[in-house]
Amino acid sequence: MTELPDGRLYLAGDWVAGQGDEITSYFPHDGSVNRVLCGASAAQVDQAIARAKAAQADPAWRGMKPHERARILYRIADGIEGNIARISEIQSRDTGKTLRETAALAASAAGTFRYMGAALETLDDTMTVPRADTLTLSVHEPLGVIGAITPWNSPIASDAQKLAPALAAGNAVILKPASWSPLTALELARIVDQAGLPKGLLSVLPGSGREVGNRLVEHPDIAKISFTGGTETGRRIARQAADKLMPVSLELGGKSPTIVFEDSDIALAVAGVLFGIFSSSGQSCIAGSRLFVQRSIYDAFVARLVAATKALVVGHPFDAATQVAPLIHPDHRDAVAGHVAQALADGAALLCGGAAPEGEGFAQGNYYLPTILAGLPNTATLCREEVFGPVLAVLPFDDEADVIAQGNDNAYGLACGIWTRDFPRAYRVARAITTGTVWINTYKQFSISTPFGGEKDAGVGREKGREGIRQYMAQKSLYVDLTGRPHPWARL
Ligand code: NDP
Repeated sequence: MTELPDGRLYLAGDWVAGQGDEITSYFPHDGSVNRVLCGASAAQVDQAIARAKAAQADPAWRGMKPHERARILYRIADGIEGNIARISEIQSRDTGKTLRETAALAASAAGTFRYMGAALETLDDTMTVPRADTLTLSVHEPLGVIGAITPWNSPIASDAQKLAPALAAGNAVILKPASWSPLTALELARIVDQAGLPKGLLSVLPGSGREVGNRLVEHPDIAKISFTGGTETGRRIARQAADKLMPVSLELGGKSPTIVFEDSDIALAVAGVLFGIFSSSGQSCIAGSRLFVQRSIYDAFVARLVAATKALVVGHPFDAATQVAPLIHPDHRDAVAGHVAQALADGAALLCGGAAPEGEGFAQGNYYLPTILAGLPNTATLCREEVFGPVLAVLPFDDEADVIAQGNDNAYGLACGIWTRDFPRAYRVARAITTGTVWINTYKQFSISTPFGGEKDAGVGREKGREGIRQYMAQKSLYVDLTGRPHPWARL
């Protein structure tokens, strides 16, 4: 078995014991303890920020040529790639995700560092059109010290999505991972350290949102918060940021509609809907948790979907056959079960799931069966609130206008899936749906080169893509006089 990180924190390049609240990482399969550690104290956060500020201001970093800084990012990518099996196991123990999924997340994190290095090397500043005898330029500078706050569901991928562009842009970063999954980010710190990032530029400080997260948001020397997590936490951070006039980017929750038209390729749609909601055990911001099926095929499609759902393999995260692994924490499993109980009380029909699986192997873990509920209107709580678990609400719709109205009638606006053979229709619906991402005849496909983010309560700002680096930079305008003459106003 892979040795887990020893629980020390990575504070500005030094490995130190935390002085804050105790945190325990559990293995979601059986509740066994992975590691007990102490998170950072507010004083340690302050110390990390002070050292990050000094390291970021050092001309050796600020003045480093983009291709040289990119080389560090490439080394981090190599370090992740060379340790995929190790990172994957640590992350699966930390979160309960399958090894297959955590290996893919680690590979994508390596790709993120490599892409951001390449983007940095090829990103141009611009010479703008002058309105006088001046040379006018629009250039970009780093912001300073970035606070990155991430959730527990896909640690290494969401950590890389913030660290890579923020470092590429020439900043320093303090990363606060979620308390339920602190180990993966500490392993990433080890790799970054070995890649030769100058000391002080990165700190990885697990700790509670109340102590560490809050301190990062409030600290006067944090120039920006990049947050991924729940909408209520995001809203609170945005309010605090407003007081400091500090920019924030917020990747928040979702209640994404998946739309199956009567002319869709049914096998393709069933597979896509299953993957969209039940992969990662539904613990995904982009989970396709509201399924709209055209009324003419509703009964036949739902019957096929339910049969396929019952055939999904629920099991141990390390078993290669497993499709649905345990949820992160018993509290979260109970919260998911609570959403289902509420839906049933509201009159939903339970088509499958709705309980923990039976059997010896599941007794100690946070397992919950893939669940499909029908018969509730789009206004029901189940169709409004994010469950963040393997729970799908199914609803019928009549036509394009009806499904656009129902799809958009939700506070979130993160993602949408459309299944049809009619491309003009897919295009019309895709343009009319208010979400940051739309997939057509596919779902949960990602590329670091394609921007990602939410509308409405799903967030503010976009990550990824070449422009992703710009989110961590301040634009500056330069005017250079070309005349050599004193300004006429002075009458010299
Ligand atoms: P939370 O909002 O509870 O926590 C996210 C992070 O914020 C954690 O590190 C948490 O720390 C920290 N935090 C909590 N309170 C504060 C605070 N007052 N100040 C600063 N930081 C704080 O979300 P979850 O961890 O439960 O993650 C699930 C949510 O994340 C879902 O809503 C999901 O949709 C969303 N998400 C969005 C994604 C997107 O890209 N749009 C991607 C993935 C998830 P601690 O763990 O110590 O509480």
